[in-house]
Amino acid sequence: MKVFEYKYTDSAIFAEELKALKTWCNNHVVSNVLFHIYTHHTECPYLGTVLHTISKTIPRALYVGCSSGGNILGGELVDSDVIVTATVFEDPDTTVEVHQYSLTEHTEETVTDKVVDLVNSRPEIKAVEFLVDIHGLSMTGFSNRLSNIREDVTIFGGGALNVDMDETNTNVFSKVGDISDKSVVFILYGGKNIFADAFYVEGWNPLGHKLKVTRAVRNRLYELDGKPAYDTYDNYLSIKNDENFFINSLGFPLIANINGVNILRAPTSCFEDGSLSMTADIPEGEMVNLSYGDPWTILKTVNQYGIRVQEFAPQAIYIFSCAARKAFWAGDSTETKPFTSLAPTTGFYTSGEFVRTGKYINQHNVTMVIASMREGGITRDPDRLFHMENAAALSGQVSMVNRLANFLDKATQELEDANTRLSIMAVTDGMTGLFNRMEIQRRISSEVMQAVSSGDDSKLPSLIMIDIDNFKSVNDVCGHNEGDRVIKGLCQMISEVIDKRAPGAPGRRRTDIEMVTVFKEGTPCAGRWGGEEFMILLPSTDLNTAVDIAEFMRIEFSKIKFSQAGSQTISLGVTRAVRGENSDMLCGRVDSALYEAKRTGKNKVVHK
Ligand code: GH3
Ligand code: MG
Ligand code: MG
Repeated sequence: MKVFEYKYTDSAIFAEELKALKTWCNNHVVSNVLFHIYTHHTECPYLGTVLHTISKTIPRALYVGCSSGGNILGGELVDSDVIVTATVFEDPDTTVEVHQYSLTEHTEETVTDKVVDLVNSRPEIKAVEFLVDIHGLSMTGFSNRLSNIREDVTIFGGGALNVDMDETNTNVFSKVGDISDKSVVFILYGGKNIFADAFYVEGWNPLGHKLKVTRAVRNRLYELDGKPAYDTYDNYLSIKNDENFFINSLGFPLIANINGVNILRAPTSCFEDGSLSMTADIPEGEMVNLSYGDPWTILKTVNQYGIRVQEFAPQAIYIFSCAARKAFWAGDSTETKPFTSLAPTTGFYTSGEFVRTGKYINQHNVTMVIASMREGGITRDPDRLFHMENAAALSGQVSMVNRLANFLDKATQELEDANTRLSIMAVTDGMTGLFNRMEIQRRISSEVMQAVSSGDDSKLPSLIMIDIDNFKSVNDVCGHNEGDRVIKGLCQMISEVIDKRAPGAPGRRRTDIEMVTVFKEGTPCAGRWGGEEFMILLPSTDLNTAVDIAEFMRIEFSKIKFSQAGSQTISLGVTRAVRGENSDMLCGRVDSALYEAKRTGKNKVVHK
């Protein structure tokens, strides 16, 4: 495989260049010639000449192309309106074919199904590239359906753009189709000796706490955490809704984990109502973070991935980089140029980058997709080592932005931990770790209300109330401290039995944090009702089960040997809520059951 790169300047020069290429092809074994043509806009007057010259000089050659947000040749952003690269395949077994389909909301499904069937029925196909005109289409369905292509196929591609980003005229074209603003061009690479690898490089890091996408319709993001999405940019980053909004927010796209990979979405504009237009869909309900990009972290990431490309030993590198990155680097080619140390590197700045990670094909933004190709096995060329000018400066150093972001991350985490601890303290009893009276009361009443309003009697909760027998004498004889130990021993037993035996409990011990944060409403729990009185709430539990649990607790407690107080006993009242009563009536009844147990000899379970 060999790549020839042409910066179009003049028809006569280009004709000569192609003649030379033709001669080269005639003198070598060549199985296929594929041209990639990227143009700032398809109205460009030279485009017709370029296509015509290709067809005339090398009639069997295939070509694909699109309008772009910037052309990358020799690893650098070049200012030529049109760039042309010819990839010449030298292995006789390699096949390359091009398909172009009309792509609209109506044809999307048929087109993707057709391509999936085609590729899946052709085991020799190793890689699929596509150039697509996104023209406001949601590409989520397209990408998800295309993910049905068998998993060993490498898939990558880019969305057409216009060098004037405000210009909506974007197009794709190919040898087998017209210049079209509603099309997708697929290139299928096959053969036993062709190999491809593709991945995305990003380099942006999450910042601050997670935000929930509470309202979004396709690429319009209305609300984050129930507030206008723009508030996030205004509040945390002081980014004003002015003519610099796009550029200023570019360093801080949103980052979401979709299909197991980090997906970036950058805001492109802001509306009066505080909603944001994003670079692509961002699903409602998703958790996102602001992220930040700083040159140091980005280059460090690119440097790491450069090694992966080096290992692959590519003969051609195709780059699909987000136009946002072009803006971020202000047209500088710092992150693309180093790849030329490995192989000819060409590509364009896109409106969206596509790449398969595992099973899923995802539409990315703000990333750089790097596709590497090779014919034949890996041949190590000692001169072909990934080289980044300032790599040495990158190692071991941490940028100021990075340190500040780290500081923010740690401070946010500490604050979140402190908040969790506070919310635990607010609802628990310090001595026993069980819920306090207020919390257990609240839970009982909410459980009764929910069960009643559900109309489902099986949801009615049961209550167990416990009081230690003759506890005053423990205090009197063994002292208050031993009394405390008896109370704690009882509470530990209560928690263990609930966690292991109560319906809906996890079947293992819960941590304090789990008790409050994970096992929210609707799970069995216990609270300290008064000095040595405890209440156990068992949601959706019938009376028999509750009585069994109470009886089990009574026996378990009697088995405990306290160092001074020896074995002690408890009395228990049990009852189940009935339709039509409130929680006060329920608590009154369990209290009277307990009183009954005390009155009739203690160390027993009485149910009502
Ligand atoms: P009964 O069998 O009828 O329940 O008899 P009792 O002696 O246990 O009587 P009661 O339940 O009324 O006794 C409660 C005692 O518990 C009184 C109080 O001093 C003691 N107490 C309450 N809270 C604590 C505590 O946190 N630590 C200790 N050591 N004792 C407590
Ligand atoms: Mg007592
Ligand atoms: Mg008592």
